[in-house]
Amino acid sequence: MIKYKTKDQKGYAIRMVVFGVVQGVGFRPFIFRLANKFRYKGWVKNIGFGVEIHVESEEKTDFKDFLKALREKKPPLSQIEEIIHKPVSSQNLKDFTIKKSKQGKSFVFISPDISICENCHKEMMNPSDRRFHYPFINCTNCGPRYTIVKFLPYDRIQTTMESFKMCEDCNREYTNPLDRRYHAQPIACPVCGPHVSLVVSRKGKKIKGGIRKAASLIKEGKILAVKGLGGFHLVCNALNYEAVRRLRKTKERKTKPFALMARNLETIEKYAFLNPAEKKMLLSARRPIVLLKKKREIKGIAPFLDETGFMLPYTPLHYLLLGHLDLIVATSSNKKDAPIMKDEEEGIEELCDYILTHNRPIHMRADDSVLRVVDGEPLFLRRARGYVPYPQRVPRELESPHHILALGGELKDTISLYKNGYVITSQFLGDLDEYQNYKYFEETIRHLTELFEVKPEIVVSDMHPDFHTTRYAQKSGLPHLQVQHHFAHVLAPLLEHKIPPQKKVLGVSLDGYGYGEDGLAWGAEFLLADYSSFQRLAHFKYVPLPGGDLASKQPWRMALSYLVDVFNSKLPKVKALEKVSKNKIRSVMRMIEHKINSPLSSSCGRLFDAVSFLVGISPLEIEFEAEAPMRLESAAQKGIEESYDFSVKGSLPPYQISFTQTIKSVLKDLEQEIPPSFISAKFHNTLAQVIVSIAERAKKDHGIDTVVLVGGVFLNKKLLHIAKSLLEQKSFKVLRLINYSPNDESISIGQIAYGLNKIKKGKEDKNKIT
Ligand SMILES: [Zn+2]
Ligand SMILES: [Zn+2]
Repeated sequence: MIKYKTKDQKGYAIRMVVFGVVQGVGFRPFIFRLANKFRYKGWVKNIGFGVEIHVESEEKTDFKDFLKALREKKPPLSQIEEIIHKPVSSQNLKDFTIKKSKQGKSFVFISPDISICENCHKEMMNPSDRRFHYPFINCTNCGPRYTIVKFLPYDRIQTTMESFKMCEDCNREYTNPLDRRYHAQPIACPVCGPHVSLVVSRKGKKIKGGIRKAASLIKEGKILAVKGLGGFHLVCNALNYEAVRRLRKTKERKTKPFALMARNLETIEKYAFLNPAEKKMLLSARRPIVLLKKKREIKGIAPFLDETGFMLPYTPLHYLLLGHLDLIVATSSNKKDAPIMKDEEEGIEELCDYILTHNRPIHMRADDSVLRVVDGEPLFLRRARGYVPYPQRVPRELESPHHILALGGELKDTISLYKNGYVITSQFLGDLDEYQNYKYFEETIRHLTELFEVKPEIVVSDMHPDFHTTRYAQKSGLPHLQVQHHFAHVLAPLLEHKIPPQKKVLGVSLDGYGYGEDGLAWGAEFLLADYSSFQRLAHFKYVPLPGGDLASKQPWRMALSYLVDVFNSKLPKVKALEKVSKNKIRSVMRMIEHKINSPLSSSCGRLFDAVSFLVGISPLEIEFEAEAPMRLESAAQKGIEESYDFSVKGSLPPYQISFTQTIKSVLKDLEQEIPPSFISAKFHNTLAQVIVSIAERAKKDHGIDTVVLVGGVFLNKKLLHIAKSLLEQKSFKVLRLINYSPNDESISIGQIAYGLNKIKKGKEDKNKIT
């Protein structure tokens, strides 16, 4: 029993420290108001990791109500990691105060950018409010954060708002602890803050009319660039096919889906099915793009797929614009494969007719986040705006005083930093083979290490000798660790779910490609793993990738590769192959036979490509990564339970999973004119059965009870759902990433886990020696 009062004290007192994202989010004024409500005295101040609070009461209390209210009513932007508290001596204070914080060298968190809150929205729509229709309205509970901050601590002069001098009215709100704009660093109003302007893109000439005019131009079919939080969107009327077609031409995108922004949920429901979890995600203050099952097709938006990506407005500017419009395309403004543009000077005028811009600079670019909802929880396709830079706590056993930088892979890269028990993972940075993205990668390392005052002592990269990230690590001059791609994948969910170091799991790591320990292209790996090492228990049987990189762009090559694997040179008649010229088929078969430019791979993505092509769904050449698998998933019919045969070969690990029977049966089904939707469903079930069969082997031979599902293939909602439920039926515990994407965006997190474990091991070994 804890005593909150000792004999010599007049009152009761408690001291607590709240860890987490509690600075720059209105936490101290919240505590101030809360304490006043309870009539408690005391103080609150920012300290390194969080906020320290001292409260005292003259009346008898254990402060449980206060703690409860603190947890339940905390400001929406805050994230409490942990609260520690202990009874202390009462100081007989007369009031409750917010103490000035000293600048320290510690880890200060910063909130992600957050959508406009209800209170600000109400004010913005109130004609008698001084911020009526003001597109930069914000408060301590909402608005820009990560994309405008240059340095920490988070103060106005350290953000891109530094050049705007607060007017008297704003200053009064900013300095009043009872005002909801107390210390809201981006506070602004029409008198003192930023403004929008509308520009004719090619002439660079400003025109009148602002947001209203911009909306009418969109209605007319024009393409506009609209400056948001982390960069520009390219915007047009989603229901005007001519405008959509023109936007596709400008962006050099024939089939890659466009995201839509809708005025409200009712508009979305006209075009898509929505369940409660999806509604909640759409409405959350982080405002991601959510992929939703189509109810009605909108021409040109997401061809050949069964889902469309929707988001709701998130900046005041979006709300004002969507006040005049129902549904717009809102796609990142970038040239093919380059990072999202954040300044006019980056060539935005070439992509649009008009630019709706403003003069609040963006410091850090960040794309919209994209997710699907699976079994009520998010499945991230891209984690960026709204989520970055939320920190991730590591398992206690892995904590270290050393700072680590992890560089990720190459495609869909992110970087992660480790300091004082937490990992910060960057936004999605794209494919580093593009020069612009590589610059973005360097820009992000610089920014995040400065922002969080991280001085890396160890750098971790992939094993691939030719990755830009590997070379960057080699040049850094720091001690350098390298981790196999699929192993790093498996470690990411272990870290997220704070799995302790002794625990061994079966990691099912399915994706397109990662450099293997044997130098071959790994891609469907079943690894018995803990933080220190892995054993390759099984993998898909190697097949050639005829033409190397071309094989991942032209799915017919993979179809051919699998056919040769099954039938050698005596190919059966396959309808889908009639689309390919006989010459091309002959030359690719020769490549395979003579092992010319046909590296071996156990890729899961390429198996999907092959099946997608065989059933006639995949294009001859894909435009974007995973296009063929996505079409195959879209086609899969619900409610089918049948699957195909496969075999597991070998008497010792690594066992090889062969799809010879599967391919034969698919062809038989095609012969009997079974529809692709049925074949696709059976194929998905087959992969789930493969996973279960290897998991059971891992249980029998190694006592494994936990299975990790990770890798880009698990962006496939259907496969993830089936595999997870089958495994759970067999009493396995199933782990997957919830706050991060299972694709290569999570490699850097796994690399941090490996680095931390290595440091810990190194220390143990040293202790043993001395
Ligand atoms: Zn607000
Ligand atoms: Zn003002």
